[in-house]
Amino acid sequence: MNSRSRVPCPANEPVLPYAPGSPERAKVFARLAELKSRRLEIPLIIGGEEVRTKTRRDLRAPHDHGQLLARVCEGGAAETAKAAAAALKARKEWARTPFEERAAVFLRAADLLANDWRWTLNAATMLGQSKNLHQAEIDSACELIDFWRFNPRYAEELYAQQPLSPRGSWNRLQFRPLEGFVYAVTPFNFTSIAGNLPTAPALMGNTVVWKPSSTAMLSGYYILKLLEAAGLPPGVVNMVSGPSAEISRVLFERPEFAGVHFTGSTPVFHSMWKSVGENVARYRSYPRLVGETGGKDFVLVHSSADPDAVAAALVRGAFEFQGQKCSAASRAYVPADLWPKVRKAMKDMIASIEVGSPEDPGCFMNAVIDRKAFDRIKGYVAAARKEKTTKLVAGGGADDAQGFFVSPTVLECGDPKSLTMREEIFGPVLSVHVYPEKKWKETLRLVDETSPYALTGAVFARDRRAIAEADAALENAAGNFYVNDKPTGAVVGQQPFGGARASGTNDKAGSFLNLIRWTSARAIKETFDPPKDYRYPWLGRGGKPRAEKAAVPA
Ligand code: NAD
Repeated sequence: MNSRSRVPCPANEPVLPYAPGSPERAKVFARLAELKSRRLEIPLIIGGEEVRTKTRRDLRAPHDHGQLLARVCEGGAAETAKAAAAALKARKEWARTPFEERAAVFLRAADLLANDWRWTLNAATMLGQSKNLHQAEIDSACELIDFWRFNPRYAEELYAQQPLSPRGSWNRLQFRPLEGFVYAVTPFNFTSIAGNLPTAPALMGNTVVWKPSSTAMLSGYYILKLLEAAGLPPGVVNMVSGPSAEISRVLFERPEFAGVHFTGSTPVFHSMWKSVGENVARYRSYPRLVGETGGKDFVLVHSSADPDAVAAALVRGAFEFQGQKCSAASRAYVPADLWPKVRKAMKDMIASIEVGSPEDPGCFMNAVIDRKAFDRIKGYVAAARKEKTTKLVAGGGADDAQGFFVSPTVLECGDPKSLTMREEIFGPVLSVHVYPEKKWKETLRLVDETSPYALTGAVFARDRRAIAEADAALENAAGNFYVNDKPTGAVVGQQPFGGARASGTNDKAGSFLNLIRWTSARAIKETFDPPKDYRYPWLGRGGKPRAEKAAVPA
C-alpha cells in the first residue's frame, strides 16, 4: 500500500542439460513413471470446481497407442455456458484485484514451475505430446516460466504509459480489462502457448474460458492445477473440453464475448473470425481477435553461405519435434553450386537420427501427434513421390504399428510452386528447391510470393550485401526473420513471436504488443480549479465586454 512497487527484473530461465546421470534426468524419469501409473480422469474445471461428465475420451501416448494416459471428460453447450457464467462472476473481483496481486500469482507460478512442478509438466508434455527431454524442457518449463516472468514486467511498463498533464489538470490513463470474458483456444504443439494464452489476458484483469487442444489435455490439466497451487482464484481461468465448434458457437453468441486468444491453424481462425463477424451486432464491445496461425517457413541460402551451417540449421529447423513447430523450416532454396555439399551433409546427419519414444534419450525425434496428422503427412509424401519433378532425397518412411512415427524426409522439388513447397504439412518434411546461383534476385521474389504465410524465415549468407538484399526483399515474408540461424527457437524477451499475412494478427506473444490487446484504456481528466463562467476572453466586440453587462447582479 502507498508505494510504487517494481516487478522483479526477469531473466530467461536456464535450460537444464539432462545429461546422463544428472539429477534433473533422474527427477523427470521418476515423474514419468508416476504419471504413467496414475489412472487419471481429467475433469472440466469451472469456477474452481471439477466437473465430471458422462462423455469420456481416451487419451493415449502418440508414441505408444497401448499407453492410456488419462480419460478426458468432455462437455457441451451446457458446460460451456456455465464456464462463461463462472468467468463473468469471477470478473467482478479479479478486475478490482490490484495489479501487484495478480502479477504475484503468475510470478509464483513461474517459481513453482522452475522447481518441483518442472518434472510434472515436462513429463506430461513428453508423454502426451511426444516431446523428448530437451524439447519438453525448452517448452513446458523454460518458455512458460519466461512468459510468466516477463509478462508482468511488460504489463507494468504498459501501465506506466501516461499522458501529459499541463498545469491545472491531471490526465490519467486507466487500463481496464475488457468488458466481458476472453476465450482462449490453444494448439497441441506447445505447452507454453497453452499456458500463456489464458494467462496473458488474466494478468491484465480479464477472466477466461480456456479450451485446450484435445490432444494436449494432460499437460493442460496440470497447467491449471499449477495455477491453482500458485493462488489463482476460482473462475479466473475455466477449462472446458469437448466439440470445439459447439463450444465456440455458444461463446460467440454471448453479448459478453470480449475477445479470442487463439493459436492454431489458419482455417480454424478464419472460421472463428467469420462467426464473430456474423454475431458482431450482439456484442457489448467490438471483440479483440488475436490469432497466431500457420506457417510455411523458409530457409534461403546464398552461394556465400557455409554449407555445414546450412545443413545443421535445416536438420534442426525441419525435424526437431517432428517438424510440428509453427516455425519449422519446411521449404528451402539452395543454390546449385552449394547443393551437393548441403545435401551430403544433411544426408549424413539424417542417417544418424533415431526416431522413437521420448522416454528413450537416444531418440532425436519422436511421434507425430495423432492418426490424423500421421495420415496427412503420409498423404503429402505419397503425392510428392508421384510428381515427376520431385525426387526423394531422404526418408519417406512412416510406421504406425506402435506409435505415429514418420522418418525425417527431404524432397527435392524441381517445381518451386509444387504442393509441398506451398502448403503447411506440419510434419518432418522438408521441400528443397535448387535454384541456379545466378538467379538470386528472382529467387528472392519466389520466396516472397510462393506461400500465403509469413511467419518465420531465415537467410544464410556470408556476403553482407546478400543479407541486406534478403532483409529488404523479404520484409513482409516473415514476422520473425533470422540471419545465419534456423527459423525456430524464438525466446521470450529476445525475439517476440508472431507472423502476418495468413500467419496471424502478429500480436507478438510474450511482449507488450500482445498484452495491449487485453486492455481497454479509459482516459480520465481532472481539472483542479474549474472555470466558473462559460465565456472565453476572445468573446466580445471590443469596448465594454458584453460579458460584464450580462454579469451585473440583480
Ligand atoms: P488446430 O487449428 O487444429 O487446433 C487449434 C485449437 O483450435 C485446438 O484447441 C482445437 O481443438 C481448436 N479448434 C479446432 N476447430 C475449432 C473450431 N471450429 N472452433 C474453435 N476451436 C477449434 O491446430 P493444431 O493442430 O492444434 O496446431 C497446429 C497449427 O497451429 C499449425 O497450423 C501451426 O502452424 C499453428 N501454430 C501456430 C503458432 C504461431 O505462433 N503462429 C504456434 C503454434 C501452432
